Amino acid sequence: MMQLRWGSATDVGMVRDINQDNLLVAEPLFAVADGMGGHQGGEVASATALEILERTFRESATKEELLEAVRRANAKVWDRAQLDDNLHGMGTTLTAAAVFSLEDGGEVVAVVNIGDSRTYLLRDGELIQLTTDHSFVEEMVRAGEISAEEAESHPKRNILTRALGVEPTVEPQVEEMTPRPGDRLLLCSDGLIRELNDNQIAAHLRKLKDPDEAAKELVAQAKAHGGHDNITVVIVDFDVESEDVTVHIDVPSKDDKRKGTNAQADYGRGNKIRPSAPRGRNPVTLRVIVFIFAVVALVGVGMMSVVWYARSSYFVGLEGEQLVIYQGRPEPVLWYEATIVQRTNVLTSDVLPSALPTLRDGALQSSLQQAQTYVENLKSEADEARGEQPSDVPTTTPTTALTTTPPNESTSTTTTTAVP
Ligand code: MG
Repeated sequence: MMQLRWGSATDVGMVRDINQDNLLVAEPLFAVADGMGGHQGGEVASATALEILERTFRESATKEELLEAVRRANAKVWDRAQLDDNLHGMGTTLTAAAVFSLEDGGEVVAVVNIGDSRTYLLRDGELIQLTTDHSFVEEMVRAGEISAEEAESHPKRNILTRALGVEPTVEPQVEEMTPRPGDRLLLCSDGLIRELNDNQIAAHLRKLKDPDEAAKELVAQAKAHGGHDNITVVIVDFDVESEDVTVHIDVPSKDDKRKGTNAQADYGRGNKIRPSAPRGRNPVTLRVIVFIFAVVALVGVGMMSVVWYARSSYFVGLEGEQLVIYQGRPEPVLWYEATIVQRTNVLTSDVLPSALPTLRDGALQSSLQQAQTYVENLKSEADEARGEQPSDVPTTTPTTALTTTPPNESTSTTTTTAVP
């Protein structure tokens, strides 16, 4: 599984008295909920929804269970609102992302959404909105009645067309995407979007590599722009190369001992250590030699890991008009570049045009054989589409970079998001 790093921040903002937003970070499940309803209703709705979501998902972390968890959260919020007059009419938005391992060794991110909180993907520096707002103005924009700019200041921009807990059942929007190393997900409530436009959000996400720092900075920026609503941000990074590698050594300095701080606990949180040589003694002690040896060994293991990681996969890409199989990864891993291991006799004109964007990016495969099968499938898929009898190749559908969940019910709004 790709390594995940995440950060989060939430704030009441500059105008409201209470924070009705809530967030959940429970790897591999992340969510933001923005509650609504008078008295304490909003807070209760968003907190209840996330609690049920997490508990149900933990029982069985599958894609199906994620949708079931959303439905149960909806039912729980609805039930509580019916039983308690003070909570009557409460509801919440929900945007959630969960990472799943696939049988072929790959991974997929499922995103569910109800209401006008949002999940974005930052890929190659570009910000892509994965969710669609369930709001009155968004539907007017889609119908061509108002522009996106007009929607931002429209008096009815707060009216939601779908929310969790306001009816006995709910159908979330469901998206799926294949994560790539370096991808960054942003989950946020509308308190962020109301103050910062997509370009401003993207600029801060590109600038700050640490997810926690980036989350806090976005919240601070939203407050600086007015903070008219509660603001909540969750950021999830996929396989980022760490720029701040800390060597963990269990050697508390004298200063730490004197202050009575628990140096070991600090190490556990990845804080930087200031190893200090004891004063008045020869600094080249056995401890120093062991330390140097450990660092050299760590560097060696690190370099071997990079080579192993880089060589452990294959991808199908293009060399001119020809489909070729590379060993390595589409994005170079440090100094290690992918090498061509096989040139196929398949040309871009032999496959469907829809396959070309994936091929230009490089279609990642776990083995050489899988890469060969992928090429054969692309070819036979195109042959079939052209009405020709496919040659003697398997007829399974090739793994593409994006998949779509079949709708569970006819009212489901499952869609495929085009991710470049
Ligand atoms: Mg809000």
